Amino acid sequence: MKITRVASHVLQYDLPEELGFSQHFYERRTAHLVEVQTDEGVTGWGECFGPGNVAIANKGIVEKVIQPLVLGDDPMDRDVIWHKVYNLLRDHGQKGMPLQALSGTDIALWDIAGKVAGLPLHKLIGGAHRTRVPAYGYGMMLKRESLDDHIARFGDEAASILDMGFRATKMKVGLGPKEDVKLCEAVAAGVAGKGSFMVDANRCYTTSDAFYVGRALEEFGAYWFEEPVAPEDLEGYRELRAGLKVNISGGEAEFSRWGWRRILENRGLDIAQPEVCALGGISEYLRVLALAHAHFTPVVNHVWGSAVAVATNLQLLAAMPALPGGLNPFEPMLEFDTTHNLFRDDLLTEPLDIQGQVKSGGGYVSVPDRPGLGVEPDSDFIRRYEVTC
Ligand code: CA
Repeated sequence: MKITRVASHVLQYDLPEELGFSQHFYERRTAHLVEVQTDEGVTGWGECFGPGNVAIANKGIVEKVIQPLVLGDDPMDRDVIWHKVYNLLRDHGQKGMPLQALSGTDIALWDIAGKVAGLPLHKLIGGAHRTRVPAYGYGMMLKRESLDDHIARFGDEAASILDMGFRATKMKVGLGPKEDVKLCEAVAAGVAGKGSFMVDANRCYTTSDAFYVGRALEEFGAYWFEEPVAPEDLEGYRELRAGLKVNISGGEAEFSRWGWRRILENRGLDIAQPEVCALGGISEYLRVLALAHAHFTPVVNHVWGSAVAVATNLQLLAAMPALPGGLNPFEPMLEFDTTHNLFRDDLLTEPLDIQGQVKSGGGYVSVPDRPGLGVEPDSDFIRRYEVTC
């Protein structure tokens, strides 16, 4: 079998309302899908992390840089292809966009491998440790509104996300440490007696501000405190983890086994959040997972993007062994964005209907069991939203 084409599809639409997190506001939803075609008619799909114009630039890397390197290769040789591409791009970026572009390509090759074998991805990896995965819903985005309006909205939204059936919910912060503590207090009140909540700072604090917010989170009973400081600030992570009782999580902005080795050896994370569509695809995710477990660090995948990313992560979460194991072990959760996202809801010929499953399944989502990722994007839908660039 030979690879005959590697194509990128960047999809975009204008959101009904602007959404924000601690770094910026955005008005458009973007998804970047990679389609790998073969001479035997088997097609694989993958996804690259990266919003907006980053996706458009990554399309150039996929089509103009990676495609010429792999045309004619056997798509079943995905590990050989991974190392060939990484090695040739190494001089031009060992993190960031080259790895995001490689990720989507690698995921598509795994989809092909599953389709050729007639096996879902989790079987190809080694089997399902669980056939359904609990989901948490994130929302509570920042808007251009007053603190009081944020507080009222966050309290209501936290309760409504749990009412949708999600087991836990995750909020954004980023208005400033004092304001953020008030927001967290409102969310703690909103979820009281219903479920748990997590807090995502998207790396907006200094270490001392993170301590200030983190101490409040201990009181409010937050389950984890995500990306409190900049990902480069390994010492900050280590100090926060040693000094706070709340779980410290992060890692979505880290790449490859070599980047993750430094984070894990630093002992600054209670929970690791690798992003398969950015760090190097499924091939590299499996190595990062093994490395995390070698350091006895539990993993809850970071999930962002379209239904292709959601399906990929459901497969990986099914195939993840419990750490350390037991009758009632620590279980990973599926991260699920509850904000407006057509690329998650309407992309597939047969939608995953995560919200419907969460509602009827007590907060659980079943793992697709068809070959490969177990899902098929709808080509008419892609044509409708694809941007030409
Ligand atoms: Ca995050």
